[in-house]
Amino acid sequence: MNEPRDPALETLAVWAGEDGPTLQGATQVPVVHSVSFGYHDVDHWRDVALGRREGHIYGRNTNPTVQAFEQKVRALEGAEAATSFATGMAAISNTLFTLLAPGQRVVSVKDTYGGTNKVFTEFLPGFGVDVELCETTDLEAIEAEVGRGCQLLYLESPTNPTCKVLDIERLAGAAHRAGATVVVDNTFATPINQNPLTLGADLVVHSATKYLGGHADALGGAAVGRADLVERIYHFREINGATLHPEAAYLLLRGMKTLGLRIARQNQSALTIARHLDAHPFVSAVFYPGLEGHPGHAVARRQMRGFGGMLSFELKGGFDAVRTFLPRLRYAHRAANLGAVETVVAPPATGSHVELTAEERAAMGIPESLVRYSVGIEDVDDLIADLDRALDFTAERHGTKEQA
Ligand SMILES: *Cc1c(COP(=O)(O)O)cnc(C)c1O
Repeated sequence: MNEPRDPALETLAVWAGEDGPTLQGATQVPVVHSVSFGYHDVDHWRDVALGRREGHIYGRNTNPTVQAFEQKVRALEGAEAATSFATGMAAISNTLFTLLAPGQRVVSVKDTYGGTNKVFTEFLPGFGVDVELCETTDLEAIEAEVGRGCQLLYLESPTNPTCKVLDIERLAGAAHRAGATVVVDNTFATPINQNPLTLGADLVVHSATKYLGGHADALGGAAVGRADLVERIYHFREINGATLHPEAAYLLLRGMKTLGLRIARQNQSALTIARHLDAHPFVSAVFYPGLEGHPGHAVARRQMRGFGGMLSFELKGGFDAVRTFLPRLRYAHRAANLGAVETVVAPPATGSHVELTAEERAAMGIPESLVRYSVGIEDVDDLIADLDRALDFTAERHGTKEQA
């Protein structure tokens, strides 16, 4: 008899969390719309309410469809426990507000997702939490701040939108020596490309809205990791009510079945496109961790299985060039989203970092002529032809073709 083998992530993406029981043996997880769950027997009801028996009480707390989604994310990240949220930002803010208290200190980096950055700069300080945001690529500075004492280290890698890479293992080590908890936003990498928990993180947060769902039709979030921490975060969420809707949970579950296929394709296409753009005369810089010249390439090679489907590039000719370029793309939604089956393109000035001023973006090293490109699952040659056509048109219009 062969030993049962550990399933690969691609297999878990299809099967994990779906063990039922389902209604009359349905092979697909049913969307359970019921707000509450009834019990004939009061003792049974009480046991479920007290967590002594499996079951559901009320939809703000738990729901079978939502639970299947949580278990799938848990399995993919190799986590002890998982809980879910209405959005990625709900996952992030619930995690931060659960784990931090007045008088405590959190260390993070300047390049976090725009909404996360707002929690750090606008909201946490008002609750008496000391926030220290370090230069994203300055490992020594982050280690020094962590060494000065903190309760939480919050990381994101690769970052949005310039795809900087943080050495998660090294920074998690520093944080644990200081007695701090480590949280990593793994939205960009996805569990197919990177598992922060195996690199030392205590918790992983996701915007499931992006790659996990993959079809840009449902918002959702998750926090997975150490059971004691997830339990506390779940408790905060069940009280404040940022609950994932069962309909959204179903869409996310269905999307996640193809996560392995999508990410394999997007990894490959993004690398091909990044190399192509890197050699294009009208593109002054390409940010993609898979490029050998990327400052984080060596660390990315070590901690990631693939370099992801997100890249960004800078056009010659400033924001005017961006204004000309974007409408010329045939195969891209111009929208504030990423990680979908369709290619999605956005200037950070209107998308992820719209909450910031031009000065704040400049201080974060985000040029106004940057284009964030989320590679879809289209044929890569079609995407390259599309980019080339739009780039040629823009270069001609802005008269920089000769000087390029
Ligand atoms: C989109 C995003 C979020 C926020 O997720 P929502 O589902 O939009 O709330 C957080 N982190 C990263 C890296 C993201 O891309």
